[in-house]
Amino acid sequence: MIDPETLSVTIVDGYVDEPAHFGVPPYVSTYPRYTAGALVDAGVRPEAITYHTIDGLRDEPSQWQDVDEADLLVYLGGMTVPGKYVGGTPAEPDEVREIAWTANGTSLMGGPVRFGVGEANEGGTETTRQDLDFDFVAKGDVEAAAFDLVESGLEGFGDRMRDVEEVTRWAELGAFVVEDHPNHPDYLICELETSRGCAYRCSFCTEPLYGSPSFRPPESVIAEVEALSEHGVRHFRIGRQADILAYGGDGEAPNPDALRELYGGIREVAPDLQTLHLDNMNPITVVKWPEQAREGIRIIAEHNTPGDTAAFGLESADPVVQAENDLNVSAEECLEAVRIVNEEAGWRPGDDSRRGPAAGPDGPRLGPSVGPDAPRRLPKLLPGINLVHGLKGEREETYELNLEFLRTVYDEGLLLRRVNVRQVMAFAGTEMSETGASIAKDHKRLFKRYKRTVREEIDNPMLERVAPPGTVLPDVHLEYHRDGKTFGRQLGTYPLLVAIPGERELGRTIDVAVVDHGYRSVTGVPYPLDLNAATMDELQAIPGIGRKRAGDLVVNRPYGSVDEAFADASMTDTDVDLASFATIRSLERRR
Ligand code: SF4
Repeated sequence: MIDPETLSVTIVDGYVDEPAHFGVPPYVSTYPRYTAGALVDAGVRPEAITYHTIDGLRDEPSQWQDVDEADLLVYLGGMTVPGKYVGGTPAEPDEVREIAWTANGTSLMGGPVRFGVGEANEGGTETTRQDLDFDFVAKGDVEAAAFDLVESGLEGFGDRMRDVEEVTRWAELGAFVVEDHPNHPDYLICELETSRGCAYRCSFCTEPLYGSPSFRPPESVIAEVEALSEHGVRHFRIGRQADILAYGGDGEAPNPDALRELYGGIREVAPDLQTLHLDNMNPITVVKWPEQAREGIRIIAEHNTPGDTAAFGLESADPVVQAENDLNVSAEECLEAVRIVNEEAGWRPGDDSRRGPAAGPDGPRLGPSVGPDAPRRLPKLLPGINLVHGLKGEREETYELNLEFLRTVYDEGLLLRRVNVRQVMAFAGTEMSETGASIAKDHKRLFKRYKRTVREEIDNPMLERVAPPGTVLPDVHLEYHRDGKTFGRQLGTYPLLVAIPGERELGRTIDVAVVDHGYRSVTGVPYPLDLNAATMDELQAIPGIGRKRAGDLVVNRPYGSVDEAFADASMTDTDVDLASFATIRSLERRR
């Protein structure tokens, strides 16, 4: 029998993306944390567990030695929704195979990869189940497989799911592993699980393969947050769930008390957290139980950090597609859910007039904070809309109906944080596997045209409404350079991509003020902008300044005050609100 205390284990994270679980940097999924915890619970020493990401292996070839020499190699990965990623590149099937070939010890593969492997992580594709040359593939929970495998002396395991007691223990025990993540501690966000499974059965979705929802009690999640905080984590997303509003209830109806306990408890054990966001909310829960839902949404908005998004899976506004794919919410219901979230949580920090219970469906609608007097921060919580194409029954009108829905939201003056349109990936075990990607392939051109219309007609003006010029985005992490600009994002759920003029040092974090809008990204300048040091590009980027005034501002430096700069560049009679972007730093401070 192998003594677990003598075992060395290497965990390789190839990243995951599931309908209700994200783990591409800067996110770390629950899989490596729970697997590390399960190994420790089985008797493996924490010091004998090494954690690498696939990007780490690519960047540091010496890390392959840990793959080679470990007694047990655990690979975690799998993408069951299509996506493009900025923060990391998910493992390719060939790389995963190479990991299996390199491992000299026992090799175990698990995570959503068990649902299937596609040639590419993009819409309009089909997948097949593959073992990619690993000794063992976990067809149940990989963390349970890791635990049982160690217990059996690396002989084998029965495929099973873990229970709530186990996840509570493993989540806490495995929190230490985040310290090995290349993004730790400052640019790392931990995905938190509150439940798995779903009460509904949409044809394309892998989440029902986890069964009906089972919830982790608040104390289990809170203890995990406390453990992660002790290991330096300051950013969290409650993203591993199909519907945050259903948390702690009967599986469908909201339970505001459970939400209060969860969010309040997290704030208590991690008082200095910097990000607390969520991911999924089912619009049908909002409209079926409006009063409990309103209370739940208010609780979230009181405890979260600004810029939070509740992703609504409308999936299709076409009743034919809805019926053929067992979708659970109609366009009218989704519209009402959008209104409710706007009313209860669309306020911006500092706008106390709109904070608190909205007047309800019969009274005046308070709506979100908009207009020139609105505070210059992102709203607390806004809905996002997910639309999937290539589903059964899709026709040309489907595209029109989806656009009509989005136009109605815009014309009503409501806010959406983002619209996510994608083509379906067909997975074995889901109903869509019979249809596969054939409809998506047939409609590829239609989809392309429609996507452009959504970007131009909806995304761009909506973004301007959500983040008007002057909106301050604190702590933008600078990630890469392109075309003479620096690009960065805040940590959080669906963060805005921010382009800043000039090439700034990467890896740093700065506050930014929005000056312009693309379809899904914004241009910003460092906030506040020091008029005695700003570049021509930065000054010109401020709306209304233009090249000549920017030149005047540069030539007449230094200034003693913003007003002095204002006068020198003859901007007293323009609409440029320079004061809301700019500052003057003394020469001493700049040095
Ligand atoms: S509501 Fe539908 S799309 Fe959303 S998690 Fe459940 S089954 Fe999946």
